[in-house]
Amino acid sequence: MFKNILIAGGGVLGSQIALQNAVHGKAVTIYDISAEAVATAKKWVASFKDLLVADIKEISDEQAQADIAKITYTSDLASALKGIDLVIEAVPESLDIKKDFWEKASDAADKETVFATNSSTLLPSKIATFVDRPDKFISLHFANIVWSHNTAEIMAQPKTESDLPTQMENFAREIGMVPILVKKEQPGYVLNTLLVPLLSAGMYLWYHDIADADTVDKTWMIATGAPYGPFGIIDMVGLRTVSNILQAGTNPDAQGMAKKLKTEYVDQGKLGTESGEGFYKY
Ligand code: NAD
Repeated sequence: MFKNILIAGGGVLGSQIALQNAVHGKAVTIYDISAEAVATAKKWVASFKDLLVADIKEISDEQAQADIAKITYTSDLASALKGIDLVIEAVPESLDIKKDFWEKASDAADKETVFATNSSTLLPSKIATFVDRPDKFISLHFANIVWSHNTAEIMAQPKTESDLPTQMENFAREIGMVPILVKKEQPGYVLNTLLVPLLSAGMYLWYHDIADADTVDKTWMIATGAPYGPFGIIDMVGLRTVSNILQAGTNPDAQGMAKKLKTEYVDQGKLGTESGEGFYKY
Protein backbone atom coordinates (compact mmCIF):
# COMPACT_ATOMS: atom_id res chain seq x y z
CA MET A 1 0.00 0.00 0.00
CA PHE A 2 2.98 2.31 0.45
CA LYS A 3 4.78 2.42 -2.90
CA ASN A 4 5.98 5.99 -3.38
CA ILE A 5 8.23 6.90 -0.49
CA LEU A 6 9.72 10.29 0.33
CA ILE A 7 12.72 10.30 2.64
CA ALA A 8 13.22 13.72 4.22
CA GLY A 9 16.86 14.30 5.15
CA GLY A 10 19.46 12.27 3.28
CA GLY A 11 22.05 12.09 6.07
CA VAL A 12 23.44 9.02 7.84
CA LEU A 13 20.08 7.41 8.53
CA GLY A 14 17.97 8.92 5.75
CA SER A 15 20.32 7.70 3.02
CA GLN A 16 20.34 4.18 4.51
CA ILE A 17 16.52 4.12 4.76
CA ALA A 18 16.29 5.33 1.15
CA LEU A 19 18.68 2.60 0.01
CA GLN A 20 16.79 -0.11 1.90
CA ASN A 21 13.52 1.01 0.29
CA ALA A 22 15.08 1.21 -3.17
CA VAL A 23 16.57 -2.29 -3.11
CA HIS A 24 13.18 -3.64 -2.02
CA GLY A 25 11.38 -2.19 -5.02
CA LYS A 26 9.93 1.05 -3.64
CA ALA A 27 9.91 4.27 -5.67
CA VAL A 28 12.11 6.55 -3.60
CA THR A 29 12.65 10.30 -3.52
CA ILE A 30 15.17 11.92 -1.20
CA TYR A 31 14.43 15.49 -0.17
CA ASP A 32 17.17 17.54 1.50
CA ILE A 33 17.62 21.16 2.36
CA SER A 34 19.95 22.41 -0.42
CA ALA A 35 21.68 21.36 -3.62
CA GLU A 36 24.84 20.79 -1.59
CA ALA A 37 23.03 18.55 0.93
CA VAL A 38 21.46 16.62 -1.96
CA ALA A 39 24.91 16.03 -3.48
CA THR A 40 26.14 14.72 -0.11
CA ALA A 41 23.09 12.45 0.18
CA LYS A 42 23.94 10.92 -3.23
CA LYS A 43 27.45 10.14 -1.98
CA TRP A 44 26.09 8.58 1.21
CA VAL A 45 23.73 6.35 -0.78
CA ALA A 46 26.54 5.17 -3.08
CA SER A 47 28.89 4.33 -0.21
CA PHE A 48 26.20 2.61 1.87
CA LYS A 49 25.27 0.60 -1.25
CA ASP A 50 28.77 -0.93 -1.19
CA LEU A 51 28.34 -1.87 2.49
CA LEU A 52 24.89 -3.34 1.88
CA VAL A 53 26.11 -5.48 -1.01
CA ALA A 54 29.02 -6.72 1.12
CA ASP A 55 26.64 -7.62 3.99
CA ILE A 56 23.62 -9.00 2.11
CA LYS A 57 24.71 -11.77 -0.23
CA GLU A 58 21.28 -12.09 -1.93
CA ILE A 59 21.59 -8.58 -3.41
CA SER A 60 24.07 -8.25 -6.27
CA ASP A 61 26.05 -5.09 -6.91
CA GLU A 62 24.52 -4.77 -10.40
CA GLN A 63 20.98 -4.99 -9.02
CA ALA A 64 21.66 -2.54 -6.19
CA GLN A 65 23.32 -0.15 -8.62
CA ALA A 66 20.27 -0.30 -10.90
CA ASP A 67 17.94 0.25 -7.93
CA ILE A 68 19.78 3.30 -6.60
CA ALA A 69 19.95 4.80 -10.09
CA LYS A 70 16.13 5.09 -9.88
CA ILE A 71 16.20 7.24 -6.71
CA THR A 72 15.07 10.83 -7.33
CA TYR A 73 16.78 13.66 -5.44
CA THR A 74 15.39 17.14 -4.82
CA SER A 75 15.54 20.19 -2.61
CA ASP A 76 12.01 21.28 -3.61
CA LEU A 77 9.71 19.90 -0.93
CA ALA A 78 6.37 20.88 -2.44
CA SER A 79 7.01 19.13 -5.76
CA ALA A 80 8.66 16.15 -4.02
CA LEU A 81 5.48 15.50 -2.01
CA LYS A 82 3.19 15.09 -5.05
CA GLY A 83 1.84 11.52 -5.23
CA ILE A 84 3.74 10.34 -2.16
CA ASP A 85 2.15 7.55 -0.06
CA LEU A 86 4.53 7.71 2.90
CA VAL A 87 7.00 10.32 4.18
CA ILE A 88 9.79 9.01 6.40
CA GLU A 89 11.42 11.97 8.12
CA ALA A 90 15.09 11.71 9.12
CA VAL A 91 16.01 15.40 9.55
CA PRO A 92 18.31 16.34 12.48
CA GLU A 93 17.24 15.53 16.03
CA SER A 94 16.11 19.06 16.88
CA LEU A 95 12.53 19.91 17.80
CA ASP A 96 12.75 23.25 15.93
CA ILE A 97 13.96 21.60 12.72
CA LYS A 98 11.33 18.85 12.99
CA LYS A 99 8.62 21.50 13.59
CA ASP A 100 9.71 23.54 10.58
CA PHE A 101 9.84 20.46 8.36
CA TRP A 102 6.48 18.99 9.41
CA GLU A 103 4.62 22.29 9.15
CA LYS A 104 5.86 22.74 5.59
CA ALA A 105 5.14 19.10 4.73
CA SER A 106 1.60 19.41 6.14
CA ASP A 107 0.90 22.38 3.86
CA ALA A 108 2.18 20.68 0.73
CA ALA A 109 1.39 16.95 1.07
CA ASP A 110 -1.63 15.18 -0.46
CA LYS A 111 -4.44 14.63 2.04
CA GLU A 112 -3.91 10.85 2.16
CA THR A 113 -0.12 10.85 2.61
CA VAL A 114 1.00 9.09 5.79
CA PHE A 115 3.72 10.69 7.93
CA ALA A 116 6.40 8.81 9.91
CA THR A 117 9.34 10.06 11.94
CA ASN A 118 12.62 8.24 12.52
CA SER A 119 13.35 10.33 15.64
CA SER A 120 15.34 8.44 18.29
CA THR A 121 14.45 10.55 21.31
CA LEU A 122 11.47 12.83 20.52
CA LEU A 123 8.10 11.29 21.30
CA PRO A 124 5.66 11.10 18.36
CA SER A 125 2.88 12.81 20.39
CA LYS A 126 5.16 15.86 20.60
CA ILE A 127 5.96 15.95 16.86
CA ALA A 128 2.31 15.19 15.98
CA THR A 129 1.36 18.65 17.29
CA PHE A 130 3.14 20.13 14.23
CA VAL A 131 1.17 18.20 11.60
CA ASP A 132 -2.27 18.73 10.11
CA ARG A 133 -3.10 14.99 10.32
CA PRO A 134 -2.12 13.52 13.71
CA ASP A 135 -4.26 10.45 12.90
CA LYS A 136 -1.79 9.61 10.11
CA PHE A 137 1.34 10.27 12.16
CA ILE A 138 3.52 7.54 13.70
CA SER A 139 7.13 6.75 14.62
CA LEU A 140 9.04 4.31 12.44
CA HIS A 141 12.50 3.95 13.93
CA PHE A 142 15.41 2.32 12.14
CA ALA A 143 18.78 1.38 13.64
CA ASN A 144 22.13 2.42 12.17
CA ILE A 145 23.26 -0.05 9.45
CA VAL A 146 19.63 -0.53 8.50
CA TRP A 147 19.96 -3.70 6.33
CA SER A 148 21.91 -5.70 8.97
CA HIS A 149 20.50 -4.30 12.20
CA ASN A 150 17.10 -4.57 10.61
CA THR A 151 14.63 -3.75 13.34
CA ALA A 152 11.89 -1.23 12.56
CA GLU A 153 10.38 0.00 15.81
CA ILE A 154 6.78 1.12 15.23
CA MET A 155 5.30 3.38 17.88
CA ALA A 156 1.93 5.11 17.63
CA GLN A 157 0.82 8.14 19.64
CA PRO A 158 -2.67 8.56 21.13
CA LYS A 159 -4.11 10.18 17.98
CA THR A 160 -2.73 7.63 15.48
CA GLU A 161 -5.58 5.81 13.71
CA SER A 162 -5.90 2.23 14.92
CA ASP A 163 -4.98 0.38 11.71
CA LEU A 164 -1.82 2.38 10.92
CA PRO A 165 0.53 0.32 13.15
CA THR A 166 -0.50 -2.87 11.28
CA GLN A 167 -0.02 -1.13 7.92
CA MET A 168 3.45 -0.11 9.08
CA GLU A 169 4.27 -3.66 10.17
CA ASN A 170 3.37 -4.89 6.67
CA PHE A 171 5.39 -2.13 5.04
CA ALA A 172 8.39 -2.90 7.27
CA ARG A 173 8.32 -6.55 6.20
CA GLU A 174 8.08 -5.53 2.53
CA ILE A 175 11.36 -3.63 2.84
CA GLY A 176 13.23 -6.42 4.61
CA MET A 177 12.82 -5.20 8.16
CA VAL A 178 11.67 -7.01 11.30
CA PRO A 179 8.76 -4.95 12.69
CA ILE A 180 8.89 -4.29 16.42
CA LEU A 181 5.51 -3.10 17.69
CA VAL A 182 5.79 -0.76 20.68
CA LYS A 183 2.29 -0.79 22.20
CA LYS A 184 2.55 2.50 24.12
CA GLU A 185 4.67 5.61 23.76
CA GLN A 186 8.01 4.99 25.42
CA PRO A 187 11.13 7.18 25.28
CA GLY A 188 13.84 5.00 23.73
CA TYR A 189 11.35 2.53 22.23
CA VAL A 190 12.22 -1.10 23.15
CA LEU A 191 15.88 -1.18 22.16
CA ASN A 192 17.21 1.86 24.00
CA THR A 193 15.00 1.19 27.03
CA LEU A 194 17.01 -2.03 27.35
CA LEU A 195 20.38 -0.86 26.07
CA VAL A 196 20.92 2.44 27.89
CA PRO A 197 20.66 0.94 31.43
CA LEU A 198 23.02 -1.90 30.42
CA LEU A 199 25.65 0.51 29.10
CA SER A 200 25.19 2.79 32.14
CA ALA A 201 25.68 -0.12 34.54
CA GLY A 202 28.86 -1.15 32.71
CA MET A 203 30.16 2.42 32.89
CA TYR A 204 29.33 2.53 36.62
CA LEU A 205 31.39 -0.62 37.31
CA TRP A 206 34.31 0.70 35.24
CA TYR A 207 34.24 4.30 36.55
CA HIS A 208 34.21 3.21 40.20
CA ASP A 209 36.97 0.68 39.50
CA ILE A 210 34.78 -2.21 40.64
CA ALA A 211 35.68 -4.26 37.56
CA ASP A 212 37.76 -3.73 34.39
CA ALA A 213 35.93 -3.21 31.10
CA ASP A 214 36.94 -6.64 29.77
CA THR A 215 35.84 -8.30 33.04
CA VAL A 216 32.43 -6.63 32.74
CA ASP A 217 32.07 -7.80 29.14
CA LYS A 218 33.36 -11.32 29.88
CA THR A 219 30.83 -11.71 32.69
CA TRP A 220 27.93 -10.57 30.53
CA MET A 221 28.95 -12.63 27.51
CA ILE A 222 29.69 -15.92 29.30
CA ALA A 223 26.74 -15.75 31.65
CA THR A 224 24.11 -14.74 29.08
CA GLY A 225 25.57 -16.01 25.79
CA ALA A 226 25.45 -12.49 24.33
CA PRO A 227 28.01 -11.81 21.54
CA TYR A 228 29.08 -8.45 23.04
CA GLY A 229 29.26 -6.86 26.48
CA PRO A 230 28.59 -3.18 27.26
CA PHE A 231 32.10 -2.04 26.31
CA GLY A 232 32.11 -3.93 23.03
CA ILE A 233 28.85 -2.13 22.25
CA ILE A 234 30.25 1.23 23.41
CA ASP A 235 33.17 0.74 20.98
CA MET A 236 30.65 0.25 18.16
CA VAL A 237 28.51 3.25 19.12
CA GLY A 238 31.67 5.38 19.29
CA LEU A 239 33.35 6.81 22.40
CA ARG A 240 32.91 10.40 21.25
CA THR A 241 29.14 9.94 21.02
CA VAL A 242 28.96 8.21 24.41
CA SER A 243 31.11 10.93 26.00
CA ASN A 244 28.86 13.66 24.50
CA ILE A 245 25.70 11.94 25.72
CA LEU A 246 27.17 11.62 29.22
CA GLN A 247 28.25 15.26 29.25
CA ALA A 248 24.68 16.33 28.52
CA GLY A 249 23.27 14.05 31.24
CA THR A 250 22.22 14.83 34.81
CA ASN A 251 23.49 11.68 36.56
CA PRO A 252 25.97 12.82 39.29
CA ASP A 253 28.61 10.40 37.95
CA ALA A 254 28.03 11.39 34.33
CA GLN A 255 30.39 14.39 34.19
CA GLY A 256 33.23 12.38 35.77
CA MET A 257 32.61 9.46 33.42
CA ALA A 258 32.58 11.78 30.40
CA LYS A 259 35.87 13.36 31.50
CA LYS A 260 37.57 10.00 32.09
CA LEU A 261 36.38 8.73 28.69
CA LYS A 262 37.58 11.91 27.01
CA THR A 263 41.05 12.13 28.57
CA GLU A 264 41.88 8.41 28.59
CA TYR A 265 40.35 7.47 25.22
CA VAL A 266 38.92 10.18 22.93
CA ASP A 267 41.87 12.58 23.32
CA GLN A 268 44.26 9.68 22.57
CA GLY A 269 42.44 9.00 19.29
CA LYS A 270 40.79 5.87 20.73
CA LEU A 271 37.29 6.41 19.38
CA GLY A 272 36.12 2.80 19.17
CA THR A 273 35.84 0.52 16.12
CA GLU A 274 35.87 3.51 13.71
CA SER A 275 39.46 4.42 14.70
CA GLY A 276 40.68 0.82 15.20
CA GLU A 277 40.89 1.14 18.98
CA GLY A 278 38.60 1.93 21.90
CA PHE A 279 38.25 -0.33 24.91
CA TYR A 280 39.52 -3.03 22.50
CA LYS A 281 41.89 -3.09 19.51
CA TYR A 282 40.42 -3.93 16.06
P1 NAD B 1 22.30 13.58 9.93
O1 NAD B 1 22.75 14.87 10.52
O2 NAD B 1 23.31 12.61 9.41
O3 NAD B 1 21.29 13.88 8.72
C1 NAD B 1 20.31 14.86 8.76
C2 NAD B 1 19.97 15.27 7.35
O4 NAD B 1 18.90 16.20 7.37
C3 NAD B 1 21.13 15.98 6.62
O5 NAD B 1 21.24 15.43 5.32
C4 NAD B 1 20.69 17.44 6.58
O6 NAD B 1 21.18 18.14 5.44
C5 NAD B 1 19.20 17.28 6.52
N1 NAD B 1 18.46 18.47 6.98
C6 NAD B 1 18.83 19.44 7.83
N2 NAD B 1 17.83 20.32 8.01
C7 NAD B 1 16.80 19.87 7.24
C8 NAD B 1 15.50 20.34 6.98
N3 NAD B 1 15.03 21.44 7.58
N4 NAD B 1 14.73 19.65 6.11
C9 NAD B 1 15.20 18.53 5.51
N5 NAD B 1 16.42 18.03 5.73
C10 NAD B 1 17.21 18.70 6.58
O7 NAD B 1 21.36 12.91 11.05
P2 NAD B 1 21.01 11.35 11.26
O8 NAD B 1 22.00 10.74 12.15
O9 NAD B 1 20.72 10.75 9.93
O10 NAD B 1 19.67 11.50 12.11
C11 NAD B 1 18.45 11.86 11.51
C12 NAD B 1 17.31 11.35 12.37
O11 NAD B 1 17.43 9.92 12.49
C13 NAD B 1 17.27 11.91 13.78
O12 NAD B 1 15.94 12.13 14.17
C14 NAD B 1 17.90 10.80 14.62
O13 NAD B 1 17.39 10.76 15.96
C15 NAD B 1 17.42 9.56 13.87
N6 NAD B 1 18.26 8.36 14.06
C16 NAD B 1 19.63 8.44 13.95
C17 NAD B 1 20.39 7.27 14.16
C18 NAD B 1 21.89 7.28 14.02
O14 NAD B 1 22.53 6.29 14.43
N7 NAD B 1 22.50 8.32 13.44
C19 NAD B 1 19.73 6.05 14.45
C20 NAD B 1 18.33 6.02 14.51
C21 NAD B 1 17.60 7.18 14.32
